[in-house]
Amino acid sequence: MLQQRTLKSLTRAVGVGIHSGQRVELTLRPAAPDTGIVFRRVDLNTPVDIPVRTDTVCDTRMATTISPNGDPGGPKVQTIEHLLSACAGLGLDNLYVDINADEVPILDGSAASFVYLLQSAGIELQKAAKKFLRVKKTVEVRQGEGKRLMWARLAPHHGYTLSFEIEFDNPAVSATGQQYVFDMGSGQYKREIARARTFGMTSDIELMRSRGLTLGGSMDNAIVVDDYRVLNADGLRYDDEFVKHKILDAIGDMQVVGHPLLAAYTSFKGGHALNNKLLRALLADETAYDYVTFEDETKAPQGFAKLAPAW
Ligand SMILES: [Zn+2]
Repeated sequence: MLQQRTLKSLTRAVGVGIHSGQRVELTLRPAAPDTGIVFRRVDLNTPVDIPVRTDTVCDTRMATTISPNGDPGGPKVQTIEHLLSACAGLGLDNLYVDINADEVPILDGSAASFVYLLQSAGIELQKAAKKFLRVKKTVEVRQGEGKRLMWARLAPHHGYTLSFEIEFDNPAVSATGQQYVFDMGSGQYKREIARARTFGMTSDIELMRSRGLTLGGSMDNAIVVDDYRVLNADGLRYDDEFVKHKILDAIGDMQVVGHPLLAAYTSFKGGHALNNKLLRALLADETAYDYVTFEDETKAPQGFAKLAPAW
């Protein structure tokens, strides 16, 4: 049987929120089968649980943000996507995340620090079958027209692949690979995807700063690009780090559905908003998906049984 996974022991992290600039403490704890991933705001007088689900996403403008029942006025947790991406990359199903502020720390701007943290706590196999959300019908969402067109699609596939294309009119970005396909069954998440950092253009950063956003952003946790080049002294971690970060984000945004997908995800210039819209469109059509388990591991897609072996 392909089993659900949680952590073996608890682990902690401290960092700053990229938008708020505030110091944040996180405690990641094991959770029982079928819990999913649940954030708990422990700084509030009465701690509030916020389960990660498609319908608890309340804001997708800068990052993916959740609140109880998706109420925009409720207590929230912002920028959950890099931690969720790491969880998906390691095949983690169940986890409590105690947090003492409204934003997950950005750490180095990628998922690598979260992977390291989760791996050092160890992965525990649980006595319950891992549940996959299998896409049965192609679902697509679109936004904009002409040069502003962007779209995202989920199609049936016995496995989980993500294909992303970006198109930035910036020589520093367009000089790198702007298209990438990743197979989650390859076992290469940690090596090929996890280290890709978030990025920003100097012009956008100035604008966001003036609105009180990205106060915690710096070249320690983001790739910064001006009109011509990458400004970080050490350059890029991957030749195609920009598009790989978009795949990292998409993996995190899709994990919001609560289960690993069996699907082929494809996106052209999409982002957090379109990713959430895509999941909502999928869930709105009950004939477009079902849930499956693999009692017989050999029936699972290639590489899935071995996905992130237990340490
Ligand atoms: Zn990101």
